[in-house]
Amino acid sequence: MAFAHAVEKSDEESDEGTVQSRMQSDEEGDASPFVPGLLAATPALGPGIGVDGGACAGAWGRAIAYTREKSPASFDQWFSGVQFDGLTDGVLSLRARDEFVRQWVEDYFLPTLAEQLRSETGLSIQVRWSIDASLERPVADRPSTYAPVKPRPLSVRPGPIDAAPSAPAASARPAPATNTRLSVVPPHLEGLNAKYTFGHFVVGPSNQLAHAASMASAGAGGRRHNPLFICGGTGLGKTHLVHAIAHRVREERPETRIVYISAEKFVNEFVQSLADQRMHDFRSRFRDRCDLLLVDDIHFLAGKTQTQEEFFHAFNALHQASKQIVVTSDKYPQQLDKMEERLVSRFQWGLVADVQAPELETRVAIVRKKAQFEHIDVPDDVCLFVAQSVRSNVRELEGTLIRLAAKASLLNVPIEIGFARAEIAATGMTRPNEASVEDIQRVVCHHFKLRSTDLLSKDRHKSIAFARHVAMYLCKQRLKCSFPELGRAFGNRDHTTVISAVRKVEALRTSDPEVRAHLEALERKLGSVD
Ligand code: ADP
Ligand code: MG
Repeated sequence: MAFAHAVEKSDEESDEGTVQSRMQSDEEGDASPFVPGLLAATPALGPGIGVDGGACAGAWGRAIAYTREKSPASFDQWFSGVQFDGLTDGVLSLRARDEFVRQWVEDYFLPTLAEQLRSETGLSIQVRWSIDASLERPVADRPSTYAPVKPRPLSVRPGPIDAAPSAPAASARPAPATNTRLSVVPPHLEGLNAKYTFGHFVVGPSNQLAHAASMASAGAGGRRHNPLFICGGTGLGKTHLVHAIAHRVREERPETRIVYISAEKFVNEFVQSLADQRMHDFRSRFRDRCDLLLVDDIHFLAGKTQTQEEFFHAFNALHQASKQIVVTSDKYPQQLDKMEERLVSRFQWGLVADVQAPELETRVAIVRKKAQFEHIDVPDDVCLFVAQSVRSNVRELEGTLIRLAAKASLLNVPIEIGFARAEIAATGMTRPNEASVEDIQRVVCHHFKLRSTDLLSKDRHKSIAFARHVAMYLCKQRLKCSFPELGRAFGNRDHTTVISAVRKVEALRTSDPEVRAHLEALERKLGSVD
């Protein structure tokens, strides 16, 4: 049996909820290898169980069974390196084979275990650890085919670029044994969406860099950058990429201590920790007990100076220790308002990778993939139509497909093009092949990394004026707007200004390859290939 003390005690308990019965159900649902016969070879409950030892042993047995239930394979893996020495007056004495096992068990199992013991005994639990390389009576039997693997830290050299390992070096690294992968079940990571994996992410020109950099920061090869700063508009896949990093690292190196948190939660937890005087714990979580920090929506820290200060120190500690940091944001670092300069500059130390609105081909592929994943039968012409209808936001794109599917299923009709056209027209949310002036302005600003207000301002700075002219040209090309209308839409300018801007860009398009490249990129983003 997998763990000794609990099994011994189970004889004294009623059948319902005994350790044995619970273990049985564990084993039915758990494919991890067990070594039978350990029960007979594990006689002792531990020296700390004295006069009231029976009660304590029962409490320990039940708490440990409960903890194991959550993840039997992982439990056995780690508790084969832990010995129970006793539980007296709320002091739990444990012995770990080495510091690494102690830290892991403390981080991932003790919160549950101690909480169970507390509710069993009514005492607050303190843990006394000792380190002993040769354990006589480990809590769990060590699965025969594998042993805990020390984490290969996600080390990144400070500075922008860390060369990819050469192929021979990579192949010289011992490949993780298949058994290890199967056996080490990483602890649950709160807030991760199981669907947001690299496998479900469609790569196109609009997100290629962010995708490649995310893969690299998950240790999948390629140059690593620290920090990786992923930015872009809403619904374009930033959170998806960050979750994908976490999934990949959990899969490949389950020992890696990943902290995934939204900036909003970071703020809330910081405030709560201050109030509860648990700052030491808060700090240690982000600075010491973390190999990979993933922070979503960092722009949420804007204006929150005290939290920024705290994050700054966590950032420094991790960066100095060469631990990978990935953050996402809806703006480029330099556009983050009310963010301390020293943080903004740190965000630019590594790689800033943006995600942009996907091109038509990518949108079609996303719709197809989503349909496949959700088992929705969608013909190619409908995929194309949906992709043409929703341009700027993948979340909306997916939402449209799901709504179509729901409606079709409700009416019991197939999803075909006539139905799709009627439904999308009825919701009035999208008009195929029609962007608005604002859409074009937004895309141009994003392309030239300007603020949305820049195009409407009186600023005559060369780069802003050029972007403004390009936006006017694109509007004239694509929309049925008159010159005066466009003048009004660009900060109340005279129509002659628009005419001259459009002519200028037309001329540059033929004479200047760089301008042509900009226009082609922008047209791709706006879906001119549609
Ligand atoms: P953001 O964090 O940038 O606001 P999300 O990561 O939440 O956006 O993405 C919104 C939705 O769009 C999610 O369901 C996500 O899976 C999906 N999505 C975004 N980009 C892609 C992509 N390239 N491939 C597949 N799905 C995507
Ligand atoms: Mg997000």
